[in-house]
Amino acid sequence: MLQSSGAARRGRLSLRSGVVETPLFMPVATRGMVRLLPTQVVAELGYQVLLSNTYHLMLRPGAKVIAEMGGLNAFTGFAGASLTDSGGFQIMSLGATITTEGARFRNVYDGSWVTLTPEEAVSTQEMIGADIAMVLDVCTKLPNDRGVLERNLDLTSVWAERSRSVHNDDTQRLFGIVQGGVDSELRAVSAKAIVGLDFDGYAIGGLAVGESQDSTLDAIRATVSYLPPDRPRYLMGVGDPYLLAHGVALGVDMFDCVAPTRIARHGTALTQQGPLRVKGWGNRGLDEPLDADCNCRVCQSTSRGLLHHLIHVDAQSAGALLSVHNLSFQARLISRLRGAIEDHTIDELVANVDSIWRRSG
Ligand SMILES: [Zn+2]
Repeated sequence: MLQSSGAARRGRLSLRSGVVETPLFMPVATRGMVRLLPTQVVAELGYQVLLSNTYHLMLRPGAKVIAEMGGLNAFTGFAGASLTDSGGFQIMSLGATITTEGARFRNVYDGSWVTLTPEEAVSTQEMIGADIAMVLDVCTKLPNDRGVLERNLDLTSVWAERSRSVHNDDTQRLFGIVQGGVDSELRAVSAKAIVGLDFDGYAIGGLAVGESQDSTLDAIRATVSYLPPDRPRYLMGVGDPYLLAHGVALGVDMFDCVAPTRIARHGTALTQQGPLRVKGWGNRGLDEPLDADCNCRVCQSTSRGLLHHLIHVDAQSAGALLSVHNLSFQARLISRLRGAIEDHTIDELVANVDSIWRRSG
């Protein structure tokens, strides 16, 4: 860690591909590429770590193909580091059958049955060769019964231990994942169990799955207090500006989220004034950038009027341009958060983000 301000941490993480600055946000390249964006564009926006998905990559093109091409970084062509999610979230969202052994689900590409065990999730990620691998965990949809949460938490701990015991690649970091829904007691139980297994870093999983923003923050608080200060902390699947700023203030170092690029493809821009729906007729013929404070390539050269027009006649092109802008917005927010930790102005920045991005309820 380089510096702290309150609970917030400014640090550097040393990975096989190089040293990366924290706090950091990882754009999501599910199948090896951020949708619609050349990987070089993502790197130029200042991102140092790209997240890909083991679940998808193991099905297509297969871990062996990626390994034969020299590993994930060579495969994606990203000039930086990489993290592979284990597939726990996909297992939940695709309704897999969970047994003690592992998760059984249908291959989305050809309908065949696939069983993914914690051991296979680790060996697959070793073969794919990301800088950071994640253990296979059991996510729980919220809201849910305490009994279901407890059962999934226990299985997550057992799977974490099995994952840890088969991880052989010393140059690859393996992160454990804390579950427990939005129940503070269960978060504490899970955090203690996972930390006891001594991982290279710790993720807070199973959030942003339908709970309120305040419940998310309570669950982060309940988890972070049990995590060792000398290891990176990664809040999975969370990246809206409000939770990002508060997460950093609470001591989280890493984030990923599909939202900035997903909402871009649906026509929404992130701006200093809040979300902007470019489709709105108020933008028709408007010769103004998306965000006057943004220095991204799109805001330097493209009017809202053109983007509004494209959304109606060529949504893919509009989505690509809005994706560049939204990832630029996200990169600038991370940069401001880093600066605010260094200047000890994190409380002011969080208050500013609150005033624009806090949702009611
Ligand atoms: Zn912009």
